[in-house]
Amino acid sequence: MLQQTQVDRVIPYFERFLARFPTVGALADASVEDVLGVWRGLGYYTRARNLHAAARVLVERHAGRLPDDVDGLRALPGFGRYTAGAVASIAFGREAPLVDGNVARVLSRLFEIEGAPGDKAREALLWALATELVKGERPGDFNQSLMELGATVCTPSSPTCLLCPVRASCRAQASGRQGELPPPRKQAPRKRLELAVALSARDGNVLLARRAERGLFGGLWELPALPLAAGENAYASLRELFGKRATIGPEMLVLERTLTHRDLVLRVFPVALPPRLKTPPGGYVEWRWVPREETRTLGMSSAMETALDEALPTQSPKVRKTKRPK
Ligand code: SF4
Repeated sequence: MLQQTQVDRVIPYFERFLARFPTVGALADASVEDVLGVWRGLGYYTRARNLHAAARVLVERHAGRLPDDVDGLRALPGFGRYTAGAVASIAFGREAPLVDGNVARVLSRLFEIEGAPGDKAREALLWALATELVKGERPGDFNQSLMELGATVCTPSSPTCLLCPVRASCRAQASGRQGELPPPRKQAPRKRLELAVALSARDGNVLLARRAERGLFGGLWELPALPLAAGENAYASLRELFGKRATIGPEMLVLERTLTHRDLVLRVFPVALPPRLKTPPGGYVEWRWVPREETRTLGMSSAMETALDEALPTQSPKVRKTKRPK
């Protein structure tokens, strides 16, 4: 939960999660849908899916207990090199290295390592250094100290070198290069994702669809949506998706959100559909009419939750027939 999220924000989610899934077995027994529902609001839902999948592997192959070495941990869903190193060293006292952003910055300065974040040769060198350094007593404490040093003293801008406990052996400090190492990561161009979103409501229920497990927003519930290519007509696309049975109203809401790697635009249209649903559209594993209150318990991205709240606060939208735009 703490990956990409601050401690203060995580605490109530953590407590709620443990109350609902107090053991690895309880988590493994739950459906992924339930887990995503309890995770709702934390974002980065892949973490929840991996946590759930890892719990199942632990129950099936490890009698519900975590392996205590890096290789065993890395075989679990969601355990990359960093997480496996953190758990093996902190929980099991293994001499396992870890390199996160803070550690990478500290080591880059201590040893005056060239290269920008993302540079493969630099990363290999950092991991090799971390592997050597962690050998000895209390490897878990050592790793935590390194991370803490990066978080509190050797900060990205204006490191507090005067108070630094390893100042005497820091090459960047000696050469006055602590402000230029490491150089900033090259930013990849941001992607834009524009979705035509269908709001269908009837008798206090709203039509929601659940995405397939893999990919962006995998496994989450949402208002049925389809991606629009640049310049593509949203109205025409929805018409193609739902066919003649649907009555599509004029655009009622445009919501823009900035995600980690992309800009998201939701364009919401009211769509009146017959109650009996056919096969869900491509990319979804199921869709159904959900009571409006129940929508608050399902795993849903915060962008889609906001769109739903703004488009359908208390009452069903009025759907007017409009001419198809030219
Ligand atoms: Fe970072 Fe300065 Fe300490 Fe070097 S001396 S590790 S640059 S805080």
